[in-house]
Amino acid sequence: MEGTLKIKFYETILVLNSSYEPINFTNWKRAVVLLLKNKAQVLSERVIRLLNYVKLPVSKLVSNKPSRSSIYKRDENKCQYCGSTKSLTIDHVIPKSKGGGDTWENLVVACCSCNTKKGDKLLEHTGMKLRTQPKRPQNSMEFNLVKSNIKEWQEYIYE
Ligand SMILES: [Zn+2]
Repeated sequence: MEGTLKIKFYETILVLNSSYEPINFTNWKRAVVLLLKNKAQVLSERVIRLLNYVKLPVSKLVSNKPSRSSIYKRDENKCQYCGSTKSLTIDHVIPKSKGGGDTWENLVVACCSCNTKKGDKLLEHTGMKLRTQPKRPQNSMEFNLVKSNIKEWQEYIYE
């Protein structure tokens, strides 16, 4: 029946908690098992939702000590002041000398020229503006969803 029966089995299925929070990825085989056991419902071709709330393990939560690479990833390798993708570095929004910490809320990707321009000043004294307010992602799933470029999944990125 090849050609007439077109069931698309995608490799990766996004699993949402009952609260619609993305918690995991699985493959379709395991997704089917969850569905057959009435533990999940289908929301779309690539998304299922658990019917019972699952408490997230602490390991899935993002710590407030981000690595440099996770800041680059969150900021999509773009200067958060001018949008440049060249000669990037990490900028402390509130300079270290003024008590700014190494936190998700205080670290952004900046190009060298914005970084130099900003120097050791507070943002409000520079006339520069952040394109987005730096935030700490709620859990590591958010990264994967942003990176996936799959619209069906990105609907479930929470603010
Ligand atoms: Zn810049």
